[in-house]
Amino acid sequence: MIRIANYINGQYQAPLTNSYIPNYNPSDGAIYGDIPDSDASDVQAAYKAAETAFPEWSTSTLEERSKIMLRIAELLDENLQKFAEAESKDNGKPVSLAKVVDIPRAASNFRFFGNAITQFSSESHESTGLNAVNFTLRQPIGVVGCISPWNLPLYLFTWKIAPAIAAGNCVVAKPSEVTPMTAYLLGEICTQAGLPEGVLNIVHGLGGSTGQAITEHPKIKAISFTGGTATGAHIARIAAPMFKKLSLELGGKNPNIIFADCDYDDMLQTTVRSSFANQGQICLCGSRIFVEASIYEKFKTDFVEKVNALKVGHPSKEDTNIGALVSKSHLEKVKSYIDIAKSENGKVLAGGEEVTVDGFENGYYLAPTVIEVSSDECRVNQEEIFGPVVTIMPFTSEDEVLQMANKVKYGLSATLWTNNLKRTMRMSQSLQAGIVWVNTWMMRDLRTPFGGVKESGVGREGGFEALRFFTEPKNVCIKY
Ligand code: NAP
Repeated sequence: MIRIANYINGQYQAPLTNSYIPNYNPSDGAIYGDIPDSDASDVQAAYKAAETAFPEWSTSTLEERSKIMLRIAELLDENLQKFAEAESKDNGKPVSLAKVVDIPRAASNFRFFGNAITQFSSESHESTGLNAVNFTLRQPIGVVGCISPWNLPLYLFTWKIAPAIAAGNCVVAKPSEVTPMTAYLLGEICTQAGLPEGVLNIVHGLGGSTGQAITEHPKIKAISFTGGTATGAHIARIAAPMFKKLSLELGGKNPNIIFADCDYDDMLQTTVRSSFANQGQICLCGSRIFVEASIYEKFKTDFVEKVNALKVGHPSKEDTNIGALVSKSHLEKVKSYIDIAKSENGKVLAGGEEVTVDGFENGYYLAPTVIEVSSDECRVNQEEIFGPVVTIMPFTSEDEVLQMANKVKYGLSATLWTNNLKRTMRMSQSLQAGIVWVNTWMMRDLRTPFGGVKESGVGREGGFEALRFFTEPKNVCIKY
């Protein structure tokens, strides 16, 4: 059994509540550790440590900050195997995936923002004829709160923390209680890298208590949140009257639009990945597949064949493509959508059933599932399932597919497969999404703005957008 502790003021500490919640291994359904069930008193201790550290950290040189952050990145690289195994055990994702996606990206987050802060600049305006010059100071906010979800645990946790500390803030952070392990291990790495005490404080616990206490804390001036749309709305209701700065990265129901003129083999291979990577538990997965009618039957046959060939298995096995879903309750939620699809006359073309993995019979495994739907308005096509379930349906014209693609409450990402340049431009302009990928999926450049429109969120992360969020601009006007 592994007992996790909070990381406050550079020290691992038991929660003041002295109460714990169980941590499950999704691959076998067994409890393998416990997690602090922290409350507002633990958040207050973390806040105090952050507040104390702020004056020195916020005035440290950019070189000092950068050096420490690059060292954290190096240490993550050096501990790749350990972190990948911990992420897999907590989340159910294949170790092989955590090794090439989650942990390298967490290291990249520190490396990227450690470098970006040395290049971050602000504007200056000479007021010609008035003998005055205006410039903008970009000052750290103070103590900020970062709250992250379970699907890409360390990847998304560090995506917030890295720009926050690079900009000179001190942080009170909460990973998802479902996947706390790599955030716990990160504390040790930060200490080793020489991050001053109190700059990063990690408090574990439930969303409704620990997360709520961070959101409600009167002195935590900004909240960067990634998670579900309902939780985001709840956080916004609390934070708005307190005039906190808010960044909300929320749910998605992303269209994957396939035209007949695309590079077919590339599209097919990538569509399998964009549908089922990380058991379909990526906010960017293309869970609504629209295929031009002329290639629909061919696509259907080829896609189903490839999906049926995916190996569902224990996350530690090298040949596993699809690991376990994150929790029993999530598995039940995803399965309930398969029932809903059937009740709406959806046709299950692949999967649709739980999978029993030999030796791990209590694990949360589900076969990758493809559902043919007859209307884009059915619930499985409108609501976020966030699991290994995609819908497919044909379309006949650009206008028709555009209308269907945009007819959801979400607007995170969209994928478009075509070699027609004019159509690419028309569709990219008209798709209601924060990110449009053309002939690729999830190709990320950390300098680009990342985020969604409509109920997929407010604000942008990534590049200088994140550094702008984590700083307060101040105009200084000097008359000479
Ligand atoms: P969630 O239930 O909203 O939880 C996200 C985080 O918020 C967790 O740390 C959770 O803690 C915490 N939380 C829950 N209630 C809270 C409250 N009242 N106050 C403050 N914090 C609270 O989301 P999830 O199920 O972990 O993640 C899946 C969702 O995240 C999906 O909708 C997915 O699309 C979205 N997502 C979006 C992006 C993006 O970039 N747009 C990226 C990844 C995921 P506990 O887990 O401990 O309860």
